[in-house]
Amino acid sequence: MPDAAGKPVPVVGVLALQGDFAEHIAALRRIGTQAREVRLPADLEGLDALIIPGGESTTIGKLAKEYALIEPLRAFGAAKPIWGTCAGAIFLSKDATRTKEGQPLLGLMDLTVQRNAFGRQVDSFEIALDIPALAAPGEEAEPFDAVFIRAPLIESVNAEDVEVLARLEDGTIVAARQGHLLATSFHPELNQDDRFHQYFLSLIESKATVH
Ligand code: GLN
Repeated sequence: MPDAAGKPVPVVGVLALQGDFAEHIAALRRIGTQAREVRLPADLEGLDALIIPGGESTTIGKLAKEYALIEPLRAFGAAKPIWGTCAGAIFLSKDATRTKEGQPLLGLMDLTVQRNAFGRQVDSFEIALDIPALAAPGEEAEPFDAVFIRAPLIESVNAEDVEVLARLEDGTIVAARQGHLLATSFHPELNQDDRFHQYFLSLIESKATVH
């Protein structure tokens, strides 16, 4: 469906098996996209991109398997943008540590992710991150207020085409992009700053290579 200026409005799905999919849908609607919940393989049809929300990666993986979504999600991610936030980043990765035995991963992004990486005493925290990719051309980006909830960290990026988008002050990687795939340890859907969702939309039009 085109917008008022005649530009096609992207249709973005949000995997709605478990977790905070409603917040992603609200953010997508705020920035003028069509957002749709995805629960079954047929729901992927006609989507331009997909978000896998935060929640519990073991549950999301288990339900995705039960609903026969694993292979359709892999095929989708080979061709179209997927963004995993927190639990979604774990599920998107090729390699994850501290996972539950048999926990399914989509194996799409060349990342090693460490689940539940920030010890108990700091289960949740909020921090201003410097994310140059969010800057408008020729400008510096305002800090991005990032919410971490029992978050994973990205232990390593394992291919040359993976770009690190954000690090904590100690160097820990918390956001990365590989072509049209995006992973964040934190939850950009939990504040009213929609720049990360805008950035994800830009990947739909980018010339990202399919690998
Ligand atoms: N600890 C959760 C997991 O392992 C992720 C938490 C989150 O998504 N906020 O899946």
